[in-house]
Amino acid sequence: MSKTAERYDHFVDGESVASTGDERIDVVYPYDGEVWASVPAGTTADVDRAVETARAAAAEWRETSPSERRATLYGIADALDDHAEELGELETRQNGKLLREMAGQTDALGEWYRYYGSLVETARGDTVPVENKDGGLFNYVDHEPYGVVGAITPWNSPLMLTTWKLAPALAAGNAFVHKPSEQTPVSALRFAAILRDETDLPDGVYNVVTGAGETGAALAEHDGVDKLAFTGSTATGRAVGAAAGRALNPVSLELGGKSPNVILPSADLDNAINGVVKGIFAATGQTCLAGSRVLVHEAVHDEFVERFTERARSVTLGDPMAPETEMGPVAFREQWETVREYVEAGDAEGATVAYGGEQPDGTPGECFVQPTVLVDVDNGMQVAREEIFGPVASVIEVEDETDAVETANDTDYGLAAGVWTEDMRQAHRVADALEAGTVWVNEYRTLSHRSPFGGFGDSGLGRENGAEALDEYRQTKSVWIDLDGEVDDPFTLG
Ligand code: NDP
Repeated sequence: MSKTAERYDHFVDGESVASTGDERIDVVYPYDGEVWASVPAGTTADVDRAVETARAAAAEWRETSPSERRATLYGIADALDDHAEELGELETRQNGKLLREMAGQTDALGEWYRYYGSLVETARGDTVPVENKDGGLFNYVDHEPYGVVGAITPWNSPLMLTTWKLAPALAAGNAFVHKPSEQTPVSALRFAAILRDETDLPDGVYNVVTGAGETGAALAEHDGVDKLAFTGSTATGRAVGAAAGRALNPVSLELGGKSPNVILPSADLDNAINGVVKGIFAATGQTCLAGSRVLVHEAVHDEFVERFTERARSVTLGDPMAPETEMGPVAFREQWETVREYVEAGDAEGATVAYGGEQPDGTPGECFVQPTVLVDVDNGMQVAREEIFGPVASVIEVEDETDAVETANDTDYGLAAGVWTEDMRQAHRVADALEAGTVWVNEYRTLSHRSPFGGFGDSGLGRENGAEALDEYRQTKSVWIDLDGEVDDPFTLG
């Protein structure tokens, strides 16, 4: 670690708090390998302290009125707007993704807080018509927060994936304990300090405990947590889901994908190639919704492969902070090795590497890999079934629309899918048949705070974004009032 590396601690109850343990985790800039910060590896006692703090804060936060919460969330949005550039740079220093991608994300985050602030202020309960026994029964339905949300997030879009949970959770009246990825903990700590210094969010409502998987597991298992929210791999999601099951806590899981991007003969091929590049090479392929299986109709397959491979060759790799860079490094060396292993596995199973798979000459550090095009891929191969989480497109030839849909749906995952066609009847037909939580037609990788996002199958449980996400963070209460004050028959239901 360099002598100038910044030293961070946990953030609990509005303060920077030292860990009860001595172990620390280095934070590295993947572009050049510089260790520029360190954070504590949180202990179980650290998690206990944060959960206890959040429990106390939750009791007060839930009592605030919807207007007060809306005002606080709008304040968070304004503070985020003011710090978007700084936070975007911080994100890039942690995960090496392009500054224009990360700053684009941090620039938009305020909208989530404004949206959920507005939603909760305009939300209403229901009155329900019930059998009006002797003119005396009244029923209404209301919503209440769970209490303490334990949130565990990955490294690829740290603050965005935090915001997808935090904004609706706060709007609904919950307090929050956050365990960010060990690769990208600093932006959450900086964000927490901004909330303390520049908003009126009460201390203790948002707490950050840094650490590795064990710290996340301690949070997931904690009996003071009332609801879990997780984004990450399907394997870890199963462990978090199991912990939630043991505690009988609700859980939302946003997990991995192996999303199909389907090119049909009537597609505008220039546009489709751009869409496939956007799907798999943007963010160096490190996105849950990567269009990593490219399913191409046989009528356009050869032309597509030739032109797409040419495009892959021309991608500009380099410094993620530089505006001309199109693809930066993967986030850490193990991820680079994973990508290499998959390329070799594809080769061993009979796929052809049309381009890529190597660290290009002249790139610094040890995390760069060329945009990679695998052709002659069969949907049964490992490179078509497992999430690689790197810039590797597996191109699969399909015979017709039916084969395309069957192949697209032949996966354990179901996060997203794209379809490229100028035939609008076909677009509707295929969008309807694709088994995925999000389908794009003639677009890929667009999102909004207003539209629900989440997975079918092994890609997850529950939804983030949209009005649906507010309900992930509040429970429903049905209240019955007997207005005539008399219990009828005590031995029957009704
Ligand atoms: P991981 O599942 O490895 O880690 C996610 C988070 O869980 C990290 O904070 C991690 O800590 C923590 N963690 C690890 N082990 C445990 C455990 N046993 N109990 C509780 N928490 C634990 O995912 P990655 O960080 O590698 O992120 C990449 C994955 O995230 C990909 O599979 C990707 O598809 C998915 N993802 C899904 C999205 C979606 O919305 N569906 C969006 C973005 C990513 P630590 O970092 O210290 O290991």
